[in-house]
Amino acid sequence: MKIGVLALQGAVTEHIKAIEACGAEGVAVKQIVQLDEIAGLLLPGGESTAMRRLIDYAHMLPALQSFAKDKPVFGTCAGLILLAETVEGEEAHIGQMRIAARRNAFGRQVDSFETKLAIQGVSDSFPAVFIRAPKIAAVENEVEVLATHEGDIVCARDRHLLACSFHPELTGDLSLMKFFIKEMCSNQLIH
Ligand code: GLN
Repeated sequence: MKIGVLALQGAVTEHIKAIEACGAEGVAVKQIVQLDEIAGLLLPGGESTAMRRLIDYAHMLPALQSFAKDKPVFGTCAGLILLAETVEGEEAHIGQMRIAARRNAFGRQVDSFETKLAIQGVSDSFPAVFIRAPKIAAVENEVEVLATHEGDIVCARDRHLLACSFHPELTGDLSLMKFFIKEMCSNQLIH
């Protein structure tokens, strides 16, 4: 099974390695045509403003929006911001996940931290690295909250869409990636 990583900017290589360690094939997605061959797409961490500019430069926004309407997408950190239906104080990007994102909600680069999180259905103690991370400021009713950190929502699932505030690819713990691939992508039919 092929899982794509949007490869315009950000933590691409680490995610491809994590996907391959889970037994799937990782594909660096740079063009619209590649979306046809993947069972699910990962949006990496990085800088959402820069990623949006590159998405527009590659004319990929409508194709990413229609992929995310019914195919599995996992947004991590900046990728969470890209996926959110609402981004506080600015326009939404891909905008298909029924959450509101608040950028840089945990402070600046120097305030980066690592903590252990309980992620429902995934892990009791997941090592989560937060780097200028967004939080999920609000979710619509049907969205499942999978993890919180000191009361803030940091991981959620909305049907076929998954998002987390932190960087799951920076430690060796593959449980969240396995959850995405096995629980959310493996039922996809690829033509
Ligand atoms: N602060 C970045 C943004 O707003 C996200 C940081 C990250 O992905 N580590 O896009």
